[in-house]
Amino acid sequence: MIFFDGKTRLICSLACGDLKTLRHEMLSQSAAGADLFEFRLDHLLPTPTLAELRDLLTESPLPVIVTCRPARFGGHYEGPEEARLELLRAAAECPNVLVDVDAAAAPADFPYDKAILSVHDYSGNMPDLEGVADRFESSPAAVSKIAFVASGPQDALRALEILRRGRKPTISLAMGEAGIAGRILAKKFGAFATFASPRKGKESAPGQPTVDELKNLYRWDRIGPATAVYGVIGCPIGHSLSPAIHNAAFEAAGLDAVYVRLEVQPGADNFKRFMDALLERPWMDWRGLSVTLPHKENALNYVGADRCDELSVQIGAINTITIAEGRLQGENTDYAAAIDSLCTEMLIQRRDLRGRGVAVIGAGGSARAILAALVHYGADVTVYNRTQDRAAQLAGEFHCRFSTLEQLPRTDAEILINCTPIGMHPHENDSPLEEIPSSVRVVFDVIYSPIETRLLRQARADGCQIVAGVDMFVRQACAQFEIWTGRPAPLDVMRQVTIKRLSGQL
Ligand code: NAP
Repeated sequence: MIFFDGKTRLICSLACGDLKTLRHEMLSQSAAGADLFEFRLDHLLPTPTLAELRDLLTESPLPVIVTCRPARFGGHYEGPEEARLELLRAAAECPNVLVDVDAAAAPADFPYDKAILSVHDYSGNMPDLEGVADRFESSPAAVSKIAFVASGPQDALRALEILRRGRKPTISLAMGEAGIAGRILAKKFGAFATFASPRKGKESAPGQPTVDELKNLYRWDRIGPATAVYGVIGCPIGHSLSPAIHNAAFEAAGLDAVYVRLEVQPGADNFKRFMDALLERPWMDWRGLSVTLPHKENALNYVGADRCDELSVQIGAINTITIAEGRLQGENTDYAAAIDSLCTEMLIQRRDLRGRGVAVIGAGGSARAILAALVHYGADVTVYNRTQDRAAQLAGEFHCRFSTLEQLPRTDAEILINCTPIGMHPHENDSPLEEIPSSVRVVFDVIYSPIETRLLRQARADGCQIVAGVDMFVRQACAQFEIWTGRPAPLDVMRQVTIKRLSGQL
């Protein structure tokens, strides 16, 4: 049968409310790049007749998986069980069709050679995953499908482990945002298929990426058994630009690698749980991780100060982990990116920062990283922050001065760096200053959305040199690429992708 040639299929799941919409979606999605459709009959109202179903299956430009999940298994079908099974049997008689049958309602006499035997667990705790997988292996069904709600991205790794052990065609996935890495990496581990939605908001199960995301953002067609795996850990992580920038870089460099997103809930325990699960599975081929809020400090503690560079330890946070033969190495590419963005605009070397007056606004995570590097290179830094205790603590730690935001207009600094979210989307009209102080020649805003903040527009109008947060963002990603691959980063590609994403063109 066409389904069983060892390739991992990309299934576009169509959960439409009526036949007209389903027909329209079927035609509009057939060119989007999916290999199969899933027709979720349980979303259709009224439920189609046998004749309507046969017509639909005949018309489909792609092979179809027919699913009619009852409400008790997480679907929407509320009609008689006999009628549901009759629909599935009728579908199974059509060419190029497989049917999904829930294991808990699977009759003894069923066309199992055309069946996907499935279980969907919404409890958030799938204790006997391996036992279920073993029982499904010995069932007469052509395909096994196990779907369960992810409690964290470690469950995506558990789902992938099932694929690795399975002998028969298997779909194994962890649902929800935390499980998305497993849906993408399913192809690397030889899954029978992965599910995708036609577009955002049309998912038939939580955590489905769109067909477009899989094909164009995660480079689905390039993923194979030898693909190296990278990712970004954070929470929230759904809107991170990092998968776009790193996957575009891998594409430009012709590397067999993929970069996924990993939602790890806040807390050192959650970070540790995921990292332990990852290191227990060396066969997964994880090579590197970006780390963003709120886990940069947890990452440093997990990797250990002795395996991180000196300035990262002083900052107390890392954003980059490299994995080689089970050993971890930690770095902070944020501070170097910030300093290099600044120096490049000013046409100076890092050492030329010595003695220059810098006003840093803010005393949070980004201020800390940038301030540590500025002090390291001898700059004369003053921290201006809303909360004085925080400013005092940071300034005390790095032996520099601090002051109030009210004093900021009277600064005599040459360089001004905004490390607060004032002016960030959706508050684009805000600025930390009414006017740029007269001593200031260079203004750096770490905010990257919008690309040009009100503060930067004020500075440009006053004839100052400006450094945009997007430069820092692109540089920190470039530095990660270089650490991980040992190759020069495709800076222009990475910058273009970032700017296109930020301006809504991608
Ligand atoms: P953070 O750790 O939460 O620190 C925020 C700082 O801003 C604190 O000092 C806080 O003052 C101050 N602040 C917040 N709202 C304020 C307001 N309304 N008025 C006055 N002060 C205010 O944040 P972060 O991680 O440093 O991030 C700050 C910004 O940098 C964000 O916009 C982030 O997107 C951006 N960022 C950019 C990059 C890049 O690559 N370009 C990297 C990292 C961060 P208090 O101490 O008084 O609360």
